[in-house]
Amino acid sequence: MSYNKSYKIGRMGVGVGLFLVLLGLAIEIDFICYIGLIMVIGSALLEAIFYRCPNCNESLSIRGKRPKHCPGCGYKLDD
Ligand SMILES: [Zn+2]
Repeated sequence: MSYNKSYKIGRMGVGVGLFLVLLGLAIEIDFICYIGLIMVIGSALLEAIFYRCPNCNESLSIRGKRPKHCPGCGYKLDD
């Protein structure tokens, strides 16, 4: 899996997962909260594992803004 793809899937999964948690809380159905939590954790893990520099394998920050360049080797990252 490419680092770009893992970033997009990770971000989307966290967003959808958080939405499900809030939805589950709002309508008071625990089951939906659990699905949301699993999605959030799974997506964060996926991003942590696959969102790495393709050049030096440095883990790219999953907090804040996307880096334009690898913090480890300066490799230019695509959008
Ligand atoms: Zn690098």
